Amino acid sequence: MVLKVAVIGAGIIGVSTALRVLESNPGKVDVRIFSGRQSPFNTSDVAAGFWEPIYMSNTAPELQSRWGVETYKFLEKYVNHDVGRNAGIFYLSGYQLFPEQEVKSPPWKDLIPDFRLLTREELDRYPGSKSGFFFTSLIAQGSKLIPWLTERFLALGGKSTVRTIKNLNELAFEYDIVINCSGLEARHLTRDDKLFPIRGHVLRVKAPWLKHFILRDTNPPSYAIPNEDWVIVGGTTHRDNWSTIPTDTDRRSILEGISKLVPALAKAPVLGEYVGLRPGRDEVRLESEHVQYGTKKFQVIHNYGHGGGGLSVFWGCAGDVNNLVQDTIKQRGTLHSKM
Ligand SMILES: Cc1cc2nc3c(=O)[nH]c(=O)nc-3n(C[C@H](O)[C@H](O)[C@H](O)COP(=O)(O)OP(=O)(O)OC[C@H]3O[C@@H](n4cnc5c(N)ncnc54)[C@H](O)[C@@H]3O)c2cc1C
Repeated sequence: MVLKVAVIGAGIIGVSTALRVLESNPGKVDVRIFSGRQSPFNTSDVAAGFWEPIYMSNTAPELQSRWGVETYKFLEKYVNHDVGRNAGIFYLSGYQLFPEQEVKSPPWKDLIPDFRLLTREELDRYPGSKSGFFFTSLIAQGSKLIPWLTERFLALGGKSTVRTIKNLNELAFEYDIVINCSGLEARHLTRDDKLFPIRGHVLRVKAPWLKHFILRDTNPPSYAIPNEDWVIVGGTTHRDNWSTIPTDTDRRSILEGISKLVPALAKAPVLGEYVGLRPGRDEVRLESEHVQYGTKKFQVIHNYGHGGGGLSVFWGCAGDVNNLVQDTIKQRGTLHSKM
């Protein structure tokens, strides 16, 4: 028996989940993505795509690390390889700076090549920084990675439809499992009041001479993160602000912040300006529930609320969703063999 699976969402979480479920269960699942928006119009396309699995509020740090490490390993399979050439994946080294004297090293530090604490001389280059790390991270640029993952999904026989789902029950009779990867919009779709926007305003500037990331963890944060065709300069983290319109005040504050770290960036030509709403939640929601609709009972697996870290943990989260799908495949198999 082939399980019919609907995935809601075509951001990084939806597309990676759909692909992982489809490729892990050949001949056992039929997967279709439903999405209101597609790349390049998702929050995932606005992100810098910087791998650092720590920006998911109170989600257990061990969980963020486990998902993050799995995602790092997935990305590493394709970095520098022909097959991932157009996927927007590349290594990027640089400096993470803190205004505090002592900051605990992250649990994944041994996975990262050349992770070390910054020396006094290095910190002095960035006024106001009291501690910091140097390490080599990976960039997973959403605007390139999502189309690449989608192509792989379609090549395996996956299907995709542009359609906004107003109520999960719409899919109850046609699908056995609905996987909810609707990001911030899950607030309306599942009436989840715990979700809130964390508004991020960024500039894309032309500065091909910048070859490192520089990220200062202040409030607001200041960062410059090279992507393939531009450098992302940010940022803002406004909680509960739903506006996606860039403002002069934020632009000024972003440029002022970065000019203290890399003065030349404040004069770099601006190629574009974007605002994305991070799907903030006290913790990522990744769990399964059974929903009764009339005579039909169907399974819903939620995978949303990844805050400022969706591009750092997507493959690990997709793995956990896939485990839940495989439990259902096994249960159905047992049920049928008993009949
Ligand atoms: C400025 C900024 C910088 C960031 N930088 C980083 C970074 O460097 N590293 C990092 O890891 N993360 C970063 N993030 C966070 C990251 O972008 C998010 O965690 C991630 O994009 C969330 O992905 P998603 O797929 O859940 O959501 P989205 O990308 O918003 O996708 C949601 C999808 O669901 C669909 N959908 C919603 N409701 C429905 C419905 N009812 N019916 C059909 N479809 C529906 C939408 O159309 C869309 O396709 C950043 C975010 C911002 C804003």
